[in-house]
This record gives sequence, structure tokens and C-alpha cells, in this order.
Amino acid sequence: MVQLKTDTSIEAMRETGLVVAHMLAAVRKEAAVGVSLLELDAVAREVLHEAGAGSPFLNYRPHFAPVPFPAVICASVNDAIVHGIPTGRRLRDGDLVSIDAGATLKGWAGDSAISFTVGRARPEDTRLIDTAFAALDAGISAAVVGNRIGDIAHAIGTVCRKAGYGIPDGFGGHGVGRSMHEDPAVPNEGRPGRGMLLRHGMVLAIEPMLTGGGTDGYYPDRDGWTLRTSDGSRAAHAEHTVAITDDGPRVLTAL
Ligand code: MG
Ligand code: MG
Repeated sequence: MVQLKTDTSIEAMRETGLVVAHMLAAVRKEAAVGVSLLELDAVAREVLHEAGAGSPFLNYRPHFAPVPFPAVICASVNDAIVHGIPTGRRLRDGDLVSIDAGATLKGWAGDSAISFTVGRARPEDTRLIDTAFAALDAGISAAVVGNRIGDIAHAIGTVCRKAGYGIPDGFGGHGVGRSMHEDPAVPNEGRPGRGMLLRHGMVLAIEPMLTGGGTDGYYPDRDGWTLRTSDGSRAAHAEHTVAITDDGPRVLTAL
């Protein structure tokens, strides 16, 4: 069931969103060749701690997971699409890194992700990342009262497919509120004019995931969490938590 948020609740969710934005900014600043994924997680934990916020990622255990998630960020490198577990692996020149972060503050959740390269970027990676953010922007632009979920999905999917990229099916955005994952599902591909009507007070995580090889397949890593591209190509992920309001979409996880 979709929970509509009051304007007061949306203001509270903006506070949470800012914490997530600061986590990602801190991680982005720290990330460099030679820095480990665990060190990036530590930086994000520090931001949460200073804000007095909790982590919806830490100890999260959905049905498919063999172990509770052990970190406050997901760190997905190169062919990892999403849900990467931060390890001692150190970043190497040219790595493509996707960081997903979440927070809970005063009972409200926020969820956002960025992708970037460290060291010397391959041009094809830059294009893939730019397209992920362009798809996110297109999805946000479609998140207006009177549109439907399918309009968001169609906007995202069109940007990705036009650029020749793959879209892992079965993964996408979701409602956000008291918990990080609520109804409705927000697919990354779909038909315009279909699905649930968008109303003032809906808060959605919009999150395109793209595979550079153009195929949609993925498989779970042995760790049971990390999803990797079937064709070994690199992947990018971009996400914001967005409130749908009568004044237009409001991005709650931007700085
Ligand atoms: Mg996320
Ligand atoms: Mg999400």
C-alpha cells in the first residue's frame, strides 16, 4: 500500500535526505586510487554518527541474502551493478565505482546513489555514468502529479536504450518513507500512461541501473549480495529520493 506523506513529513524526510547527500559527498571526496572500500564505508559511518542518524543498510537481510548486510554503503566496482559489499579491496586506476547510501533520522528513511571513476577514466565509462545521471534526471522530470509510474519508467528506459545500454530487469526504484523500501515499485523501463497515478505526497526512490554491454543479464556473486553483469561489462547506478508535490518533483537527497 502506498503511504502519502504530509508536507511536514516531507520536510522531515528532507533532513534525512541531506544526511545521505553528505555521506555520498564525503565518500566521493575520499575515493581515490589506493583507498579501500572499507575505508569509504568508514567515512560514511562517520557522517551518520555525527548526524545522529541510523543506517537502513546495516544488518538489512532481505529474503535472498545469506548474511545480513555488514556495511552502511553498497560499493559496487566495475562489473558489479548494485549491492556490493565493501571489502578491503583497494581502488585501482580507472575503476568505475557505484556507491549507494541510506540513512534513517527521526524515523524517516532516505536512499541515494552515485557513480564515478577514480584515476584515469575510460571514455566509455564516462559516457555510461553520464547516461545514468541523464536517465535519473529524465525520471525525476516525469515524477509529476497526474503522470503515472509508467511515465517515470518510460523516461528512464528511453534514455538508457537510446544510448545502447542494458537495463537489469527486476531491479529498480521504490517508495521511501518510514522504511527504505515501500510500495510502489518504480521500474526502469515501462509503458507511458500505465501504472499507478502519481499524487502529491508520494515519495519515491528513482534509480536507473545501466549495463555498458547492452545486455540485461546479471548474476549474484558468491557473496550472495553483489549483482554482476552477465557479459562482464561495467555498470553504473544513480539514485535520488524524490517527493512528488503540487509544485513539481522535489529531490530530497541533493546537497
Ligand atoms: Mg539505494
Ligand atoms: Mg533504492
